[in-house]
Amino acid sequence: NASILAVEARDLVKFFGDTKAVDGVSLAVPAGSIYGILGPNGAGKTTTLRMLLGIIDPSTGERSLLGYDRPLEAAHVVGYLPEERGLYPAMSCLEAIAFMGALRGLPVREGRARGAELLASHGLGDWAKKPIRTLSKGMAQTVQLLGTIVHKPKLIVLDEPFSGLDAINQEKLEALIRRQTSEGTTILFSTHVIAHAERLCERIAIIARGKVAFEGGVDEARNRLRQIVHLRTRA
Ligand code: ATP
Repeated sequence: NASILAVEARDLVKFFGDTKAVDGVSLAVPAGSIYGILGPNGAGKTTTLRMLLGIIDPSTGERSLLGYDRPLEAAHVVGYLPEERGLYPAMSCLEAIAFMGALRGLPVREGRARGAELLASHGLGDWAKKPIRTLSKGMAQTVQLLGTIVHKPKLIVLDEPFSGLDAINQEKLEALIRRQTSEGTTILFSTHVIAHAERLCERIAIIARGKVAFEGGVDEARNRLRQIVHLRTRA
């Protein structure tokens, strides 16, 4: 049912002291879709995502996540890749993935089994037992992404997931995102690069200075995108 919403935001506002970081954002993300939040640095994307996830509370406004008005109640079926990446450097790749799954309620044994499969299918099978600190930044980011999806979340929220990845890994990430939605999962991601949103998303919201400057289908948006805010056109 296309009318079911995985994420809904109604007039979210967030102040940090006197700074209004988010100024009345409303969004409706259809379940099973790939939805992009576009906007330049400082536009309020990360703050919006954090409010949607329940990491911070809005100053005013309401949100619901997978039908829950208190977003943390959906935590076991949500995956989140924050903008600031971070894994424990002494953990092995497999331990890191199982640990991330455990934080979302996945039994460690299952996390290890699924983690091994995920690492193998992403060309990192040989790295499973190696400590995170021996990985390149891009590889570590891939491991963190695998930890983000290991518990098979219904909603995956990715904050600037393409940044820091080379072209090949960006393509792999696009493929991974598409595969996830083929199983009914909803993907919400932020980016300042139009190309990723154009290739992946059914709908997008453009956020500029804390407000939604555009919301709609990608086809409709394509021509207006570049007029509304100054964005890079290539990855
Ligand atoms: P970027 O692409 O640079 O990450 P963004 O669109 O994610 O940008 P936010 O990180 O949401 O933007 O920031 C929006 C505004 O809110 C900025 O002016 C930022 O300085 C401010 N801001 C964000 N978090 C805080 C905080 N914890 N305390 C004070 N100000 C904050």
